[in-house]
Amino acid sequence: MARYVYDFAEGGRDMADLLGGKGANLAEMARLGLPVPAGFIVTTEACRTFLSTGTEPDGMSDEVSRHLAAVEAAAGRLLGQPEDPLLLSVRSGARFSMPGMMETVLDIGLNDDSVLGLAKASGSERFAWDSYRRLVQMFGSTVMGVDTALFEEALRLLKEARNAPDDLHLDAADLASLVDVCKSLIQQETGEPFPQSPAEQLRRAILAVFRSWNAERARLYRRREHIPDDLGTAVTVQCMVFGNLGADSGSGVAFTRDPATGRQGFYGDYLPNAQGEDVVSGIRNTVPLADLEDLDPHSFARLCDHMRTLERHYRDLCDIEFTIERGTLWMLQTRVGKRTAEAAFAIAAELVDEGLITPDEALARVSGDGLARLMFRRFDTSATGEALAHGIPASPGAAVGAAVFDSAEAVRRTAAGERVVLVRQETTPDDLPGMVAAQAVLTSRGGKTSHAAVVARGMGRVCVCGAEELSVDTEGRRFTTGDGTVVEEGTVISVDGSAGAVYRGAAPLVDSAVMRYLETGERGAESAGVVDAVAHALRQADAVRRLEVRANADTPEDAARARRFGAQGIGLCRTEHLFLGERRKLVEEMILAGTDAERDHALEALLPLQRRDFTRILEAMEGLPVTIRLLDPPLHEFLPDRTELAVRVAAAQAAGNQPDPHDAEVLDAVNRMHEENPMLGLRGVRLGLVVPGLVAMQVRAVAEAIVERVGAGGAPMAEIMVPLVGAVEELRLAREEVEHVLADVSKESGITVRCPVGTMIELPRAALTAGRIAEEAEFFSFGTNDLTQTTWGFSRDDVEAAFFSAYLDRGVFATSPFETIDREGVGRLVDIAVTEGRAARPGLKIGVCGEHGGDPDSVHFFHTAGLDYVSCSPFRVPVARLEAGRAALSGIEAGDSR
Ligand code: ADP
Ligand code: MG
Ligand code: MG
Repeated sequence: MARYVYDFAEGGRDMADLLGGKGANLAEMARLGLPVPAGFIVTTEACRTFLSTGTEPDGMSDEVSRHLAAVEAAAGRLLGQPEDPLLLSVRSGARFSMPGMMETVLDIGLNDDSVLGLAKASGSERFAWDSYRRLVQMFGSTVMGVDTALFEEALRLLKEARNAPDDLHLDAADLASLVDVCKSLIQQETGEPFPQSPAEQLRRAILAVFRSWNAERARLYRRREHIPDDLGTAVTVQCMVFGNLGADSGSGVAFTRDPATGRQGFYGDYLPNAQGEDVVSGIRNTVPLADLEDLDPHSFARLCDHMRTLERHYRDLCDIEFTIERGTLWMLQTRVGKRTAEAAFAIAAELVDEGLITPDEALARVSGDGLARLMFRRFDTSATGEALAHGIPASPGAAVGAAVFDSAEAVRRTAAGERVVLVRQETTPDDLPGMVAAQAVLTSRGGKTSHAAVVARGMGRVCVCGAEELSVDTEGRRFTTGDGTVVEEGTVISVDGSAGAVYRGAAPLVDSAVMRYLETGERGAESAGVVDAVAHALRQADAVRRLEVRANADTPEDAARARRFGAQGIGLCRTEHLFLGERRKLVEEMILAGTDAERDHALEALLPLQRRDFTRILEAMEGLPVTIRLLDPPLHEFLPDRTELAVRVAAAQAAGNQPDPHDAEVLDAVNRMHEENPMLGLRGVRLGLVVPGLVAMQVRAVAEAIVERVGAGGAPMAEIMVPLVGAVEELRLAREEVEHVLADVSKESGITVRCPVGTMIELPRAALTAGRIAEEAEFFSFGTNDLTQTTWGFSRDDVEAAFFSAYLDRGVFATSPFETIDREGVGRLVDIAVTEGRAARPGLKIGVCGEHGGDPDSVHFFHTAGLDYVSCSPFRVPVARLEAGRAALSGIEAGDSR
């Protein structure tokens, strides 16, 4: 029989699919003997059934009752009983952490009777009525759908009537009257009363948490974090403990290491006399965790013990929530904590040093995206001038943008192409769209564990929070600094998430230490820690990876940089730029040539220029393969703009003058060559087959460059790659011409020029006939850009702006197929081509040279598909090396990769 409910004692961390991360980790802590309030977990499976059928699965409510009875028996009290009632929290928690995105209902079990019992048992009437008020409001809004603004307005009116500056000035009688008002609001708005039955409260709260899986902000968060929509949330039901029972109580959030830098030590925020949600919401300012040592040394010592236990057990940075109820410590949550890229590298390296994890595990815990982030520039602190404000450095990096004061404005301005910084007193989950849109988030309240900080770190957004000297005026759309400077909306500010500083204007940037290390090998004393950690990870990746990594580079400078970054060759050297600049005239001449002699003259003039380019690139890549692609784009791309020419000619005619004869001639050619759909027109191998002498000239330039390098004592390894082949016959014809020229140059120079000839696989037909094509190809290289365009039948430039955001919103794809390879469609063509190509030609060398070669997820796919190498832009080479290494570690789980 299906089971839908598990006691904590029956669960564990490896059951996160079924119990959600929060539930599984609570169970794990309970098993470790840590003090966790008793409870049980309703599975994600029950949630999925409820969401798809609209009713809870058969038997679920009986199971809940049985588990509740067990909890009640252990506690010796019944849920919501009139004397000293047992109260419960009902918490959401999915497989992947979605902080604050779904609902939690606290204090289930309170009603008109049990509130009196709670007052007596706790010795505080005010506390009891405040808890009841919180339940009525939370239940009213989350479960019964009443607008929270109505409750807030009721609270505001009451405070006004009592002349109370804040909630703390309301007494028990005030709060009791507020409960009455909130209850009648519920009756008025929904036509039914606030339920007095504790069992009904529990049942309805569980279903409401199920439903909160589909809340708008939860969906948005999942889309953004690439979390599947069909996982569902588990529901943890747990005995309440109270951090708001006085000065000897409180709640906090802590990390076993600094999540910003990875530095060892306990970090966190503590709020005396408060419940957990008050810490995260940033409503009141917290004190550093270290202060707890003075406030409650006993609990502090126990907390440190538990944190050590957790870090050794999870073998990773843990992030925890705890509550102290009258001197007794309770653990309310733990998970492997989110961290910055810098911390991820630093922690992985340290845990290896401590012998807790292997170098392979360390590699699994860092990521190419993180490395890419560390390669960004940061502010030059010696030149930033005086800061407008200082706050907590919650998420590192340097961001510049116009200050905006609400989420909608952030979204609006970003859509219009502006860079913005979202400035708030504190953020709530409703600010998520603005946080996604903004370059950085700046808040005046809240600690390192506030909503703003946690969410920004998760998204890699720069964040400074708790900049207390700022007073943020959302209505007036401005903030005021400590010394009275007013900064209006739209003013450009710079936010340094590594130092916690905010500057007026656009501050100057400097290169990152990691980038400097990658480029020069220098460690630089001040950031040696993170640089060493990155070096460790890359060394390990290089040791285990099977994929080689090459770079796409067209110039000797790019080639040299790629080599410094660890590229093992050039996988794509495009020749088009060799036809630009001053050479455009020669190309034009070639295109307009009326006779063979005229054309030969132009080609001859181009030859020595191209030869020099190739010689320099081969020199920079001495001893490594360089794949040179023959000219790919349509020739009219090298001619002047059609409209411009037409206007010039027409204007001359309108003025009664003869148009410039050259203009007229070029316009004629441009018109002749005009294509409705150039992407699918005369380009690639087709060009070489119809423009006489074009292939020969390029190949001659390559061959003569090889001869020159050999003459200089080098070992050039050029490969010639034919683009856009769809049929083996095209490649055969092109190759004949190539071989012909190579033979000629060999004869003329007396040096045997050998140069493998291969093709790009970038048309579905090429992939589908790869077995035939391999008969003529000495290597394959997937051009995944064109292959994606031609497989989907859309051109990137036309569709990305036009409808991709709608497609992403509506879930047609989770990421753009131009960013991450579409495994199902394009990936299948890759698989076919690899299999059939190698069947025809065993050992066929196969790579990829589209931009996907530097995308982490795609690199993993290419590893699995059995490619020999990926080629990407030089700056992505370290990322690809790292991910190729991670891809080779099959079976090793990354901690919490999200
Ligand atoms: P989130 O996923 O947003 O972190 P939680 O389930 O952790 O949501 O709950 C929100 C808040 O409620 C937390 O701050 C937590 O401290 C508090 N809370 C949850 N369960 C209990 C409990 N059993 N006793 C006291 N406070 C609780
Ligand atoms: Mg929590
Ligand atoms: Mg292409």
